[in-house]
Amino acid sequence: MHTPSRVLPRVLTVAGSDSGGGAGIQADLKTMLALGAHGMSVLTAVTAQNSLGVQGAWELPAEAVRAQYRSVVDDIGVQAVKTGMLSSAELVETVAELLADTQAPVVVDPVGVSKHGDPLLAASALDSVRTKLLPTATVATPNLDEVAQLTGVRVESEDDMRRAAAAVLAYGARWVVIKGGHLSGEAVDAVDLLTDGSEEHWLRATRLDNRHTHGTGCTLASAIASGLAKGQSVPEAVAAAKEYVTGAIAGGFALGGGIGPVDHGW
Ligand code: PLP
Repeated sequence: MHTPSRVLPRVLTVAGSDSGGGAGIQADLKTMLALGAHGMSVLTAVTAQNSLGVQGAWELPAEAVRAQYRSVVDDIGVQAVKTGMLSSAELVETVAELLADTQAPVVVDPVGVSKHGDPLLAASALDSVRTKLLPTATVATPNLDEVAQLTGVRVESEDDMRRAAAAVLAYGARWVVIKGGHLSGEAVDAVDLLTDGSEEHWLRATRLDNRHTHGTGCTLASAIASGLAKGQSVPEAVAAAKEYVTGAIAGGFALGGGIGPVDHGW
C-alpha cells in the first residue's frame, strides 16, 4: 500500500552515546520522536554507562565526525542542530568548523561533567568551547557548573544569573538559557533565565522532588532544537521545551541501582 511521505522537521544531534539509554544521543532521539521531529545523529563518543555512572568513554576520530555530518547534511538536510558531549578540543573545533556556515539554528549544550561527576569534556577543551563553539550557537544552554567553568561566574542569586548570561553572550552565542535548576537555597521554583542581552525571560517551574533526572540537560536542548526546526521563535521553543522537560522529570523513574532516566514518552 502506498503511504504518502510525511514531511517532518529534521533535527540533528551531534553528541555522545549513553549505553544505558538515559542521556546523550539516546535521550536526544527519544525527545525528537516525542516532539514530532525526525532525529538524526552524528556520534562523537561512545560511553559505557548505566544508572551508576560512566564506566568508560571512547572518542571517535574527527574524520568520522566530519563524514557523518556530511552524509546527513548533503543529502537529507537539517532544520536545527543540537550539540552535546564533544569530549576533546579536537572534536569541539571540528564540530565548530562544520557548523560555522550552517543556515540552521544551533543549540549548544556545553556538556562538561555528568551528574555522577564523570568528565565528558577535557579541561583542555574549554577554551575551544568559549572561542569556537559558542559563536556558532543560536542558543547555548549551560547549567550552573558549566557556566562557572566557562565564564568564572559562580551563580548564587538571580542577579548572578544575569551576569553569567552576559558573559556567555560576550563569547558570541545569540541567546543563552542559564539553567538555575541547581541553584541552592529555599526557592520553591526551578528558575531558568533566557536572554539575548535585551529581552529577558524568567522561566519558572515548581521544583520537583525526584532523584531520577538522568538526561535532563540533553532532553531540554533537544526539545529546544525540535521547536526551532518547526519554525518556533527562540522564546517559544525554550518555553515549550521547559514544559516538556518538567513533564519528563515528573515521570523520571528508577532503572538499575542508581539515578534513573527522565520519561520521554509522557
Ligand atoms: N552521557 C552523555 C553521553 C551525555 O551527553 C550526558 C549529558 O549531556 C550525560 C551522560 C550526563 O547526563 P546527566 O548529567 O543527566 O546524568
